This record gives sequence, structure tokens and C-alpha cells, in this order.
Amino acid sequence: MKKICVFAGSNVGTSPEYEQKAEELGQLLVSNNIELIYGGSKIGLMGRVADTVLAAGGRAVGVMPRNLFRGEMVHPNLTELHEVDGMHERKALMSELSDGYIALPGGLGTYEELFEVLSWSQLGIHKKPVGVLNVQGFYQPMADMLERTVEAGFMQRSNLGLVLVEAAPQELLRQMLSYTPPVQTNKWNELK
Ligand code: AMP
Repeated sequence: MKKICVFAGSNVGTSPEYEQKAEELGQLLVSNNIELIYGGSKIGLMGRVADTVLAAGGRAVGVMPRNLFRGEMVHPNLTELHEVDGMHERKALMSELSDGYIALPGGLGTYEELFEVLSWSQLGIHKKPVGVLNVQGFYQPMADMLERTVEAGFMQRSNLGLVLVEAAPQELLRQMLSYTPPVQTNKWNELK
């Protein structure tokens, strides 16, 4: 795995542990020779990951839509900046550039990116690992919601294996490196 796309809040959150884990993840990427692909901002948890990667001598590649965010948000020291024409193009390029995806705690933007790569994985559009860093149980409600989704008959149980949920960056990366995608079953009960 050479490049990982990190989705993360454009805010830092209320607990210092969110930033600590973002920095730990940044260090880990560099020590494993993995390039960071991300949204390109200097603010929030996403900015903290990039700062750490760059300070440790790693590569941080940003993908930013032109004219959508205020210019001063762009990280000034990126290894590479790709400017694109909107959010759809941005997600497509971030996805294309990456060998796997990690979501840190974040808000609606993070959820949207995370669920897009998960639903694409479910459809077999890609077979790359998707992990969430479960800092202070942040993603437990999502894991509960997915379990409920299975129980309610809207998702195959095997597809719970599409998302790796781990609190420790090192363990999450280990699982991503040894990830084998779940065997794809027919997703549609009425077509069985
Ligand atoms: P949120 O979780 O709502 O803070 O949104 C963060 C995610 O959405 C990031 O992974 C980015 O790709 C995108 N995003 C939202 N706000 C910004 C911003 N100001 N600069 C760059 N990307 C952003």
C-alpha cells in the first residue's frame, strides 16, 4: 500500500485526543512510506494529519475544488496540489489516486466521503480497504447503525466486513495491509 486517502473533519473537535490520533496516524503513514492523499486543507483534523506528514518528511497530496473553499484554507506546503472542478471530481480523483481509505472523526463531509467509498466497495467498483479510526468510540454509533441496517434487512451481513473499525492507528493500518475483501454475494434479496 503506497497511498492512503484520509477523510477527516475540517474542525479539530472538542477532545484533544482527536488531534493526537490524527498526528499519530500522520507519523505512522510516514514511517510506513505511505503517501497521504486528502482534501488539501490546512485547517481541522485534516490539516493536522498533513502538518505531521510534512514535518516528518513525508508526501502530502491535496485535491481541492477551485473556488469552492476560501483560498487561505489551502495548505501552503503540500507536496502536490490538484485543483479540480467541484466535489464530484475531487472525490473521483482522491479515490483514483489511493490504495485505501481511512476516516478520522469528522462531520457531514467526512461521512459523505466515507459512505461513498463504502457503497462503491459494496458494488465491487473497488476492492480497497476502508478503515475508520474509532477515537473515543466516535464511530460506535455508525457501527451500531450498520448492525441495525443488517438486522432490518437492508444490507448483507457479509458487507459489515467492508469497513474496518479500530481505535489504534497502528492496528488499523495492520488490518488494512492484510485486508481481503468479503466474498461478494448478491446484494439484492428480491433477486436471489
Ligand atoms: P467535515 O467532516 O464536514 O468537516 O468535512 C471534511 C471533509 O469534507 C474533508 O475530508 C474534505 O475532503 C471535505 N471538506 C470540508 N470542508 C473542507 C475545507 N474547508 N477544505 C477542504 N476540504 C473540506
